[in-house]
Amino acid sequence: AKDLGRNNFQFYSSSMNARALERMAMESSLRRMFERQELRVHYQPQVGLQSGRITGLEGLVRWEHPVGNMIAPSVFVPLAEETGLIVPMGEWVLQAGCYQLKTWLDAGFAPMRLGINVSAHQLQKSDFAELVMQVLKECDLPPHYLNLEITETVIMHNMNEAFETLRRLRAVGITISIDDFGTGFSSLSYLKDLPADHLKIDRAFVQNLPFGNNEANIARHIIEMAHGLNLKVIAEGVENQAQLDFLREAGCDEIQGFLVSRPLAAEDITEILTNDEML
Ligand code: C2E
Ligand code: CA
Ligand code: CA
Ligand code: CA
Repeated sequence: AKDLGRNNFQFYSSSMNARALERMAMESSLRRMFERQELRVHYQPQVGLQSGRITGLEGLVRWEHPVGNMIAPSVFVPLAEETGLIVPMGEWVLQAGCYQLKTWLDAGFAPMRLGINVSAHQLQKSDFAELVMQVLKECDLPPHYLNLEITETVIMHNMNEAFETLRRLRAVGITISIDDFGTGFSSLSYLKDLPADHLKIDRAFVQNLPFGNNEANIARHIIEMAHGLNLKVIAEGVENQAQLDFLREAGCDEIQGFLVSRPLAAEDITEILTNDEML
């Protein structure tokens, strides 16, 4: 047992080294990515279930790696969060997204929101609200077009400060979405005071609709509760018609997912906007 223990330890520590090396390599290429301008924003439509029209677009960061290897956001976003690089990266996405939406609005497309994901590091900065307003001013984009998506875990992390920042943002007309709702472990009691406008039901609760009995009940109750709190509901990760039918029946306000469209480059979104009837 002793030998086995030692062997296990050696195995463990050498794989840790390999991981640490891999991480360092990723980290430096992550930094270089900025200088080389390899970041892009893709946009995924959100569609109103009443109107069948695009109500918003969520901006999602993409890393266009020249070596062909597309690195998924689920890999590099957490790393950028760990290293703090998420702050300039998030600022870049906000700026690029706002300029792009302004371009679409100026071209005469129907009004819609731009959803931008905000990480814990960004929200913690005391000047976050000022920075956002500065970007809106630079882009000449009225604040009500901007929607910030923030997960409940990020909000709960530093609740008093977070609430204060969200209130400041909402005071000028920016809207707030609670992202990945249902995946955090926070109590429901904070919800009644939450300075927010939309609640996004996580894909985990949408995936098995309408067949999963638990999922169906949870989804129904989330929608009912959100409406009771004056929040609009957006369901994420809607992939098929059966899910859409269930959500419509349950009174969900908007959907987002592969059924409507994958996240797309701006040029491809322009094409979709030209023919804005999604459902
Ligand atoms: P998220 O904010 O929950 O974004 C939704 C994710 O679900 C996106 O993954 C989107 O491509 C994917 N998705 C949308 N519809 C469907 C569907 O019907 N089926 C399935 N299976 N997936 C769907 P993506 O783009 O890979 O982003 C992953 C996560 O990375 C995001 O999750 C978000 O947490 C983070 N992220 C992306 N861009 C940014 C950013 O600019 N800033 C920050 N802080 N985080 C970002
Ligand atoms: Ca999001
Ligand atoms: Ca989400
Ligand atoms: Ca997510």
